[in-house]
Amino acid sequence: MDKKNSPNIIELNRSLKQKETEIGLLQQTFTEIGSELDIEKIFQIVSERALELIDAETLLIPILDANCETYTYRGGAGKNAAEIVGEALPIEYGVCGWVWKHKRPWWRGMLNELSDDEKNRWEHEVGNMILVPLQGKKHFLGGIAGLNKNNDTGFDKKDLNLLQLFASIVSIAIENAMAVKSMEESHALTEDYRSRLEHLNKQLIESSKELEYLSLYDSVTGLPNRSLFYDRLSREIVEAESDDSTIGILLVDIDSFKGINDMLGHDLGDSLLNKIARRFKGEVRYNETLARLGGDEFIIVLPGLTQKHVVKRAENFINCLKDTFTIEQNTIVVNASIGVAVYPEHGESIGNLLSHADFAMYEAKKSSVKVCVYRPDHDHLAQGHLAMAADLRKALDEKQFELHYQPIISARSKKVVSAEALGRWYTKDRGNVPPGIFIRVLEQNGLIDEYTYWAIATALAQAKVWKSNYGIKRVAVNLSPQTLMHPDFRKKIDRIIKDKSDGRLLTFEITENLFLSEYDRLAEVLEHLCSLGVELSIDDYGTGYSSLSRLRRLPVSELKIDQTFINEMVENKDDQAVVHSTIELAHNLGLSVVAEGVENKPALELLTKLGCDTIQGFLISRPLPVTKFNAFVKAQLIRR
Ligand code: C2E
Ligand code: MG
Ligand code: MG
Repeated sequence: MDKKNSPNIIELNRSLKQKETEIGLLQQTFTEIGSELDIEKIFQIVSERALELIDAETLLIPILDANCETYTYRGGAGKNAAEIVGEALPIEYGVCGWVWKHKRPWWRGMLNELSDDEKNRWEHEVGNMILVPLQGKKHFLGGIAGLNKNNDTGFDKKDLNLLQLFASIVSIAIENAMAVKSMEESHALTEDYRSRLEHLNKQLIESSKELEYLSLYDSVTGLPNRSLFYDRLSREIVEAESDDSTIGILLVDIDSFKGINDMLGHDLGDSLLNKIARRFKGEVRYNETLARLGGDEFIIVLPGLTQKHVVKRAENFINCLKDTFTIEQNTIVVNASIGVAVYPEHGESIGNLLSHADFAMYEAKKSSVKVCVYRPDHDHLAQGHLAMAADLRKALDEKQFELHYQPIISARSKKVVSAEALGRWYTKDRGNVPPGIFIRVLEQNGLIDEYTYWAIATALAQAKVWKSNYGIKRVAVNLSPQTLMHPDFRKKIDRIIKDKSDGRLLTFEITENLFLSEYDRLAEVLEHLCSLGVELSIDDYGTGYSSLSRLRRLPVSELKIDQTFINEMVENKDDQAVVHSTIELAHNLGLSVVAEGVENKPALELLTKLGCDTIQGFLISRPLPVTKFNAFVKAQLIRR
């Protein structure tokens, strides 16, 4: 027999050929999946190659799910595979469960190792199945299962070995691709997080911008607030220090704003502030800062200007308020006082500059100049208001206040017809403190009512004496709006003014801004005063809120034209026109007119010519203590 054709040789050749095919398949698989990262493609290739390798009818790849409770057929080839792939089953289910549990391959040969009961069960279910575990480097992945050998002989040990070899080769590629997939998934998740984070960041930026805006800008006027002002000024100071330049600081305070605000109501008060801010804005240049410090205080930082130019600019800010403001049909006159401090001359720190600008501002208010530059001697004048409040409390208890009286004469007869009572406060430490300052501090510290009732009672007692001695008709007392509108006012005043004969000796001077208060209550209070015989006079007329139509409906009997119109009326035709028309208008409304602040003869003559009823001013006399007032009136009587 030819050796070549001996059955052994034929079998050997067949087996070698088979081996070659298998090796070829394994190599091909290895090459194909070695560079493949798409897990679904890998499952597909692995299924097809394994199907071929073990000549199975169906091949499936069950893979453990991330939850470790189920497995899913992720790949498959051959009969019915398409229907099975994608199906998920509990981990303990079927032969897979057995393989996971024992970490051993399943094949027919395993049946011999089982108990009879188990053998019966498994033989029936999976006797024609082969399943080898897929063990990754780090994790147990799942398995490769072959169902039904095509030649009906069933899977043998050789198939098992081959499939195990195959599984060991592909498991790493599967593990890698699965890792890539989960990396891709987490990358997608990260991307999603990133874009959500980006969105959140945007929102955060928006709200922090809003927050920054709220923390740096004033919500009423939209101007920088105190914090931003501090920041800007501190930067300017650093620059000015390095290039040896100066910085002007203007502290602007709106005159009588508290009264306007109380009476207009806060909403309209805010809208007025807003309009004032807009006027100021029109005056500032790109490198300058206009900020609102709070309340009715504004601050302006003017870098690189000398004192002379700073003052000029301050005047521009005052001038831009000249035109009246209209707030819901109310015409409002706004005045302001400005305190000026210049870096470095008046201070090198923000705190110093601010407090010096503040002193200067108080000085401006007190002396009724609009703009005042800081002088070192302002310091003592503006010594802490807190300390002053404590001293004023003591002054009330110890009756330190005094009233001086300024005579008011008839323009026609030149006889003293009345007097205005003006508060005076002298202390050893402070000297004479002007009423412009101490009245404000009394008002701010809730002490003004007590002071005012004392002033009314004192003036009334004096008026009684002068009425009988000199025939002086009335004494005028200044009333703060807050006292007049206080709920207890009527009760308190009834205790001082007992009857009409008392009331007829008094005039109460009230300010124009009072006419912005709640009309019904104001009318009621004023009517009550009239019923007591008290006359009402509008002080400083022309400087505040004016509504003649309202005024006409209230029981007012006199207007006192403010001294700012009187001062220059002889030279200034505009002021003269205002005074003239005010006198006409007042007379038409049945009111008499007092001109205050008359300092020279031409003014007196002009006022007399224009029909002004009474005159008050330094030309006639300064405010005098009682003894001097008596002497003044007596001297006048003798002269006649
Ligand atoms: P006012 O009620 O308008 O009083 C007139 C002020 O003008 C007084 O200042 C007076 O001295 C001053 N004056 C009078 N004639 C002339 C003049 O010809 N030229 C100039 N330049 N000034 C003149 P004073 O006494 O300093 O009072 C200032 C303000 O303080 C008063 O203005 C008034 O608003 C307030 N005041 C004074 N005493 C009292 C008071 O007892 N109670 C209240 N609530 N306020 C008071
Ligand atoms: Mg007055
Ligand atoms: Mg006045």
